[in-house]
Amino acid sequence: MQGLMMDYPLTLQHAYNRAVRIFPRKEIVTRTEDGIHRYTYREWGKRTAQLAHALHNAGFQEGDRIATFGWNTYRHLELYFAVPCLGAVLHTLNIRLFAEQLVYIINNAEDKIIFVDGDLVPLLESIAGELKTVKQYVIMGEAPQSSGKLHPSVDYESFIANQPETYDWPQLDENTAAAMCYTSGTTGNPKGVVYSHRSVFLHSMGVGLADGAALSERDTVLPVVPMFHANAWGFPHAGIMMGSKFVLPGRFLDPLKIAQLMAEEHVTVACGVPTIWIGMLQMLEREQLDLSSLRAIYCGGSAVPRSLIEGLNHKNLNIVHAWGMTETSPLASLCKLRSYQLDLPLEEVFRIKAKQGTVLPCVDFRVVDMETGQEVPWDNKSYGELQVRGPWIARAYFADTESAAKFAEGWLRTGDVAVVDEDGMLQLVDRTKDLVKSGGEWISSVELEGLIMGYHKVLEAAVIGIPDQKWSERPLACVVPKPDYVGQITKEEIIEYLTPHVAKWWLPEDVAFVEAIPKTSVGKFDKKVLRARFEA
Ligand code: ADP
Repeated sequence: MQGLMMDYPLTLQHAYNRAVRIFPRKEIVTRTEDGIHRYTYREWGKRTAQLAHALHNAGFQEGDRIATFGWNTYRHLELYFAVPCLGAVLHTLNIRLFAEQLVYIINNAEDKIIFVDGDLVPLLESIAGELKTVKQYVIMGEAPQSSGKLHPSVDYESFIANQPETYDWPQLDENTAAAMCYTSGTTGNPKGVVYSHRSVFLHSMGVGLADGAALSERDTVLPVVPMFHANAWGFPHAGIMMGSKFVLPGRFLDPLKIAQLMAEEHVTVACGVPTIWIGMLQMLEREQLDLSSLRAIYCGGSAVPRSLIEGLNHKNLNIVHAWGMTETSPLASLCKLRSYQLDLPLEEVFRIKAKQGTVLPCVDFRVVDMETGQEVPWDNKSYGELQVRGPWIARAYFADTESAAKFAEGWLRTGDVAVVDEDGMLQLVDRTKDLVKSGGEWISSVELEGLIMGYHKVLEAAVIGIPDQKWSERPLACVVPKPDYVGQITKEEIIEYLTPHVAKWWLPEDVAFVEAIPKTSVGKFDKKVLRARFEA
C-alpha cells in the first residue's frame, strides 16, 4: 500500500520563498571596507530575484555552473539562492588555493561565469588566460588593483540593476544539482562534490534540529567558516530557511574584529575551525568583550583540542564539537551531552565534549576493521575506518573515474579512523594517512597533539610520523610556543608532561619548536607540508 501524502519537492525555492514571505524584517549584516552594510530579508529577496533575472537574461540556464570567488558577504548570500533557485549550480571556489589547483577546478567544473569580490580580482587575473569555459566575470564591489584582464566583466550592481524584484521560479525536480564544492584534495586532483536541492534541504533541517545546531529564528548567526568551505557548513542555507539574523565578517577575520562584531550584533551562534578559536582565546586573555549572547560555537574540520574546550569554558563560552566532510554536506555528527551526562564532574564533561559525538538523524554509520573488513565492537577501544551513508552524503564525485572504491557497497569511506563507545558516541583517532605506524602498532597523532596543546606554554602542536629504520615510523611533535614562552620551553619538559598520559612508546621521538604550524586552504594543520619539511 502506498502512502497518501503529497509529493512536494524539497527545493531551495521553498526556503527562499518562506524567508522573504515570513521573515521580511530580519537583518543581514556584513562588514565591508566602508563599514557595516545592513539590510533586511525583504531587500535581500528582491536583489536575489534581480540577480536571477540578470543571469537568465544573460543566457544562463539549468545545469550551468556559476562560480563565486569571494568572502562571506550579503552578495554571496544572494548568489547562494539566486543560482540554485534558477536551476543552475553554484560553484564556490576556494580563494586560498594555489593557482594551478584553481585552474584545474574551474576547467573541470566547466564554470561559465565567475562572481569575484573586488579585492580578489588580481588573484583571478593571474589565471584568467588559462580558463577554458569562463565567458564572463562579475565584479562585486570596487576592484582598486584591477589591470582589466578579466573580460568581459561587469559590475555586480549594474548587472542586477533595473531587473524585476520577484521571480517566478521554474519547476525543479528535488534531485536537481544546487551547488558544488571541491574537496581540498590532499592526494591527487581535487574532487567535486555535487549537492542536490534535496540534500541541501534535508541537511538544513538537520542543522536546525535541537540536537543539531538548533538553528532558529531567534538566532543571530556568524559563520566564520568561509562560504567556499562546504557551503559554510550549511549554516547559510539553514539560517535562511529558519529566518535567523545573519552577521557576515567579509574579509575581516582577525579574532578581535570578529569578537567585536559578535558583541555589537549580539551573535548567538558562530562556527569555524579550531585555529580560529585558538586565536580568539588568546585574544580574550588580553581584551574585555561582552560575548554573553553567544550560546554556542560550532567547531570542526579538525579535532577540537580539549584544552580549547576548557579554556573557552573558563570564559563562559560553549564550544560544540562537530564532525563532517565536504562529502557529507558537511554536518554528520555533533557532540552534545546526553541527558544522563549533564551532572558529571567537569573533568568528565570536557572529556566527552572532545569527542566528535552522535550522528544526526539521517546519517547511518559503521566502523570497520581496516584489515578484516568486519565491524568493530563499541568498546571505545577497537578502532577502524568510519563509513557513513544517508541522504546528504555524496555517492560519487563529479566527472571522476578513479574513486569508485571510496563509495563501495553504498557507504562513503571517510578515511577517518574512529572508536565508538557503548552509547554509540564517535571519537576520531586520526585520519588513516596521519596515523603514525610504529613497530606494527598505531599511534594517534591527534591524541598526542591534543595532549601537547594542553601544556600551558603551548599554543599549537602537530604530530607527524617520520621515517625510522627500526620502527618504520616514530612520532615527531612540531610545537608552537605561546608568545611569552618562545625560547623558554624544552623538549624534556614536553616529554615529562606527556609521560603520565600515554604509553611509553607513544612518547615523541623528538620535539621541533616552530614559529607556526602550516595551514591548509581551509585552516587545518597541513601535515603534508610538515612531513616534507622534516622527512630528512
Ligand atoms: P579536507 O579533506 O581537504 O580537509 P574537508 O573539509 O572535507 O576537506 O575535511 C574533512 C575531514 O576533516 C574529515 O574527513 C576529517 O578527517 C577532518 N575532520 C572534520 N571534522 C573533524 C573533527 N571534528 N575532528 C577531527 N577531524 C575532523
